[in-house]
Amino acid sequence: MNSTKIINGKEISLKIKDKIKEDITLIKKNKKIIPKLVVIVIGENPSSRTYVKNKQKACDYVGMKSEIISFKETIEEKILLEKIEKLNNDNLVDGILVQLPLPKHISTQIVISTISPNKDVDGFHPENISKLFLGEKGFIPCTPKGVVTLLDYINYDLTGKNVVIVGRSNIVGKPLSLLCLQRNATVTIAHSKSENLKEICKKADVLITAIGKVKFFNSEYIKEDAIVIDVGINRDENNKLCGDVDFEDVYEKALAITPVPGGVGPMTIASLLSNTMISYWEKEGGLTL
Ligand code: NDP
Repeated sequence: MNSTKIINGKEISLKIKDKIKEDITLIKKNKKIIPKLVVIVIGENPSSRTYVKNKQKACDYVGMKSEIISFKETIEEKILLEKIEKLNNDNLVDGILVQLPLPKHISTQIVISTISPNKDVDGFHPENISKLFLGEKGFIPCTPKGVVTLLDYINYDLTGKNVVIVGRSNIVGKPLSLLCLQRNATVTIAHSKSENLKEICKKADVLITAIGKVKFFNSEYIKEDAIVIDVGINRDENNKLCGDVDFEDVYEKALAITPVPGGVGPMTIASLLSNTMISYWEKEGGLTL
């Protein structure tokens, strides 16, 4: 593996975005239709609004078309589903993303299942989840994809390694465990009911934390020379962004570590752009400019 100690997700994501930017510049010269991502956001949740803004900024950076569709918190589920169906049938739209969480009166599962699996760039549709489970080609959820891409960039081979993932959500922990398994790692998934969490984590060659708890993991959880990937995005008591890992405490002990911010977060957005490009190329019938 490369010798970088801090795994700079911001820098790596920029490389990915610059490659996409290059591709889109060529597409604009040679094709009538350019890649387009549509993001649907419901209500005024400030975090959701920020995430959506960041996605739009990333689209602008690479030259991808983007459209933000905003609905009021009170929107009827039926209207939302009709809109998604329209976008499914719009040949100019390559990726559709509905920003989560949704208001309580709307079923997340029904909404996700309504998005065409071919445009489900978040990779949450049951068809894409089952493809991931079976090891078939499909859209991979963006954060897990971002994590394995980071490991690829530092040339870290997971074969035979002990990977411990703390967090078992459908959007991070579970899909990530499948990706690590595909890369021949020995995978342990821990969660809030796991006993002896410290002991489990200390066995990890690669520790991936996704629990949403401010600086929960200190150096006592880390094996000497482990790779530490911090997915968590939290606010500390001073309202400063931080991860699930106590970076300062763990830094010396780790072989390599992702910072928060600037680690996994930017990789998630790069994966979203990359999934939208995959969708575009599938529609256009392959990588030909
Ligand atoms: P969820 O709340 O859906 O899941 C949290 C998981 O952590 C659950 O499996 C829970 O266990 C487990 N957990 C909670 N507390 C503990 C504990 N004390 N010990 C062990 N396990 C615990 O969160 P998400 O997966 O959606 O997100 C996790 C974090 O990652 C958040 O900080 C979120 O902001 C961040 N995130 C970052 C992204 C990025 O782009 N960098 C993208 C998505 C999320 P149980 O199942 O038993 O309840």
